[in-house]
Amino acid sequence: MSQRLTGKTCLVTAAGQGIGRATALAFAGEGARVIATDIDESTLGRLAAGQAGIQVERLDVRDPDAINLAAQRHRDVDVLFNCAGFVHHGTILEVSEDNYDVSFDLNVRSAFRMSRAFLPAMLERESGCILAVSSVASSIKGIVNRCVYGATKAALIGLTKSIAADFVGRGIRSNAICPGTVQTPSLDERIAEQGGDPEGVRRAFVTRQPMGRLGTPEEIAALAVYLGSAESAFVTGQAFVIDGGLSM
Ligand code: NAD
Repeated sequence: MSQRLTGKTCLVTAAGQGIGRATALAFAGEGARVIATDIDESTLGRLAAGQAGIQVERLDVRDPDAINLAAQRHRDVDVLFNCAGFVHHGTILEVSEDNYDVSFDLNVRSAFRMSRAFLPAMLERESGCILAVSSVASSIKGIVNRCVYGATKAALIGLTKSIAADFVGRGIRSNAICPGTVQTPSLDERIAEQGGDPEGVRRAFVTRQPMGRLGTPEEIAALAVYLGSAESAFVTGQAFVIDGGLSM
């Protein structure tokens, strides 16, 4: 089996479940030392059990002090995978000031804080890779009922491109991943929260997919491995859509 990340240290936020978990496992499977972080210590515990190459740590990406301490502890991070995010449902008429603030704090400011904290050590080594999990619901495509979510994910693409532009000459690459709908625990929760007919809601998600199926966390993780490894050494400042054709 190829080991595309041997010798690399990768830090993943929101690694307890879904895309973050699959990416932590994929990074470790490619030979990386993985620091898997989340606020949920129970899911982290299950991730670490029996997994070589993965160490777990509680990290709340909304806590600037905790982020700065983590960056001081881990000055050897080569790949930073900013995955934490939350899907707020609603049109602009349904987004309260509080919804707006929480969404921007968790989806955007977290990546801003993480990147700012971990970048200086990368710059000292003149090598580093920062990845953000954006979404096809962003500047790529307007999706109904995802007003503030789409705005935050568009902001992440802007953050990604600005980091890429500012540090392209200093060994830093920065890219964003823009998934379509992916089968994760939070998708199940969102379907359940709609009430009524959960199977009908799930069918609606699947029907809007031209491929007739949802994505898997492992498919997103495979793109993250490519973007985190030397295979993508000539790639920076890009937003990679992986959506089963949703936005085509
Ligand atoms: P998820 O929503 O199932 O899991 C989110 C994880 O984030 C949980 O383990 C949770 O404990 C953790 N978390 C929540 N608040 C946190 C905080 N303050 N600090 C640290 N961790 C925290 O995961 P998912 O559905 O795979 O989504 C992961 C990312 O992918 C998100 O940014 C999401 O917006 C994005 N995304 C998901 C989909 C999808 O269809 N699932 C599509 C496009 C983009």
